[in-house]
Amino acid sequence: MKFTYKVVLGFIFSILLVVAFLKRLQPAPAPLPVPQPKQEQHAQEVKPPTLFYGMVVDSLAIVRNTVKKGQRLADLFAPYQVQGQAVYNLSRNSKAVFDVRKLRVNKPYDVVVTKDSLPVAKALVYYHNNIDYVIFHVDDTVFVEKGRKPVATVEKTASGVIQNSLAATITQMGLSPMLTNELADVFAWQIDFFRLYPGDRFKVIYEEQRVDDKSIGISLIKAAVFEHNGYENYAYYFKQNSKTDYFDEDGKSLRKAFLKYPVKFSRISSRYSGNRYHPVLKRYKAHRGTDFAAPKGTPIRAVGDGVVVAAQFGKNNGNYVKIRHNSIYTTQYLHMSKIASGMKPGTHVKQGQTIGYVGATGLATGNHVCYRFWKNGYQVDALQVKLPSSEPIKPELMPAYKLAKAQLKAKLDNIAYPPKATTAAIMGGAR
Ligand SMILES: [Zn+2]
Repeated sequence: MKFTYKVVLGFIFSILLVVAFLKRLQPAPAPLPVPQPKQEQHAQEVKPPTLFYGMVVDSLAIVRNTVKKGQRLADLFAPYQVQGQAVYNLSRNSKAVFDVRKLRVNKPYDVVVTKDSLPVAKALVYYHNNIDYVIFHVDDTVFVEKGRKPVATVEKTASGVIQNSLAATITQMGLSPMLTNELADVFAWQIDFFRLYPGDRFKVIYEEQRVDDKSIGISLIKAAVFEHNGYENYAYYFKQNSKTDYFDEDGKSLRKAFLKYPVKFSRISSRYSGNRYHPVLKRYKAHRGTDFAAPKGTPIRAVGDGVVVAAQFGKNNGNYVKIRHNSIYTTQYLHMSKIASGMKPGTHVKQGQTIGYVGATGLATGNHVCYRFWKNGYQVDALQVKLPSSEPIKPELMPAYKLAKAQLKAKLDNIAYPPKATTAAIMGGAR
């Protein structure tokens, strides 16, 4: 036993010696790996997780699709291993946020899924318009939330030359048709957009709204100049006592006391004339009105504030309404399919108020409104008569207006008109 004990002791001792020797040969051990976690932290800071509407999707995939005809929420989730019970709970509990029966065909949606061979859905984002979306979460918890994408406002400029119509030019330039409507609205009292001249041209500064770096519309025209028949009409947007309006170089409102047309979207089918061939009577007769053709039922609006003096049926006029605006002006609207309710002598109407609907009652061949205009008791051409201005810039606000106008004018003057021979335009994203 004693021998064995000594042998063991010696054996252990020699092992220790060898270990000590080897240790001396080896370089000193590196300090504890303290910097290691630090490096990892640093790496995370450099590469943040990929977020998709607040969800971390680094290890996930996003599948884009559109709602097909007849598809319900369960159908959208069907390929992605979602329990029927989960979809049922979603549908039931989401009503306060979003009614799943309102899913619409052709609307886009994204499904956030795992990258497995049988992908599993984590969430579904449904976009019901350009801005608003709904997220159906089917991960650990099942719930619905809605959100709005950020809308960016970008100032833009454009200029163009008219060959046929403003709408045609705007379309050729690849700009939003909303710009046509806005421009026509700004200059509605100065320019007859049914009678533009080839070579009429314009420059405009406007605000465009963008979502996901795509245009979703035009929010505002800030300034514009429209050269019509060689004369430059300027328009500057300005806020006066919480009321916004467009003003000219001298601070006069571009709005006249009357709307130029009694129907918003229409086409002039017959102008005021001392002598025209009447399609129903088959003889020449003066046409003391302007005919606007529009689909049956199109609202007819009062061109200005006033009092109804007649709202009745006449053999030739059909259903018609006549409005007295003041001691000077009176207007009349004929051939209505229906007179708006509440119209009777003495009724006060507001500018733009619907007074009836386009039709073909009385002596008329097709759906249109015959618009008649009296000034000081004499019938005149509504499209030619000079109408009074609306509120100008108040004297105390004139210095502020002049400053704003000078800045906008400088910007407008910086935009070049395209050459008259072409419709081509320049456009930019100047801020
Ligand atoms: Zn007529």
